[in-house]
Amino acid sequence: MPEGHSVHRLARQFQDVFAGARLAVSSPQGRFASGAARLDGATLLAARAHGKQLFLDFDNGLVLRVHLGLYGAWSFGGDETFRGASSIGAPRRVGERETYDDGAPVAYDGPPEPVGQVRVRLVSDHGWADLRGPTACEVITPAEASAVAGKLGPDPLQGESSPLQNGVDALQAGADSLHAGAGRAAEFVRRLTAKRTAVGQLLMDQNVVAGVGNIYRAETLFRRGLSPWLPGKQVSPEEAGLLWADIVDVMGDGVRDGKIITTRPEHRDTDPAGRLLPVWPDNAYYVYQRQGMACRVCGNPVALTDMAARKLYWCPTCQPA
Ligand SMILES: [Zn+2]
Repeated sequence: MPEGHSVHRLARQFQDVFAGARLAVSSPQGRFASGAARLDGATLLAARAHGKQLFLDFDNGLVLRVHLGLYGAWSFGGDETFRGASSIGAPRRVGERETYDDGAPVAYDGPPEPVGQVRVRLVSDHGWADLRGPTACEVITPAEASAVAGKLGPDPLQGESSPLQNGVDALQAGADSLHAGAGRAAEFVRRLTAKRTAVGQLLMDQNVVAGVGNIYRAETLFRRGLSPWLPGKQVSPEEAGLLWADIVDVMGDGVRDGKIITTRPEHRDTDPAGRLLPVWPDNAYYVYQRQGMACRVCGNPVALTDMAARKLYWCPTCQPA
């Protein structure tokens, strides 16, 4: 399942390639035909993410809400301006994994015939986006969108997908986001330390923190040396604050890089001559999908256990109960 950094990258992508454009909206598969009809011909004002939720705001007062879930993905294509506009390298596909164009110029004469089950297709003069396999795709009002976001926990990446501003606006935005950042940290600490539930489970609860999935859960707990079974109530506010700061750091890297890399250089594998091996993909994680392998820090085997029906990766030595 895409974690929050992918959804923030999607919001940036939509902002870059579609904001201000009048869009033809359709549902080639048919399952979203009536929703698409309500958006068809409207102009996209803004794209934003909260956790794993993507919201596209249109000028007719309606919002398209999408949650990719386990199998959903967006694909994109278009002309040079469409592809060149993106600050994030214009991935052709964002979902479980990202793929990129090779940058070669292509002639663009409209979107291709839909392939597979395309729930919704957005088309501007310069390019297109297709959505397949989402868990949620619905047209809602701004008030309903606020209600959805309001129920979620704080998002470590909030502000990451805002359009860039300049001059005085940027200074003001910086000050505002500092305030908002401190508020989000405090909110996370409050929600995490209020419950007896295991911290490993709380990090997966979108009402505690929005956007963290299985990889960021496992990796940030390891980086902080926290046992996944520690009850939230037993995490000190200081430690909870440090955990939040680490989540903000590594997820911010994820937005920048388009992939999750949590290892520090000193913990990555080297070849027999001591040269660092490539970071991606085999050197990217501390514990995620490394069960049975030697822990990068202590050398003991990384463990795999079920927690609340999800796979949990951790090091019993580095993360003692
Ligand atoms: Zn270890």
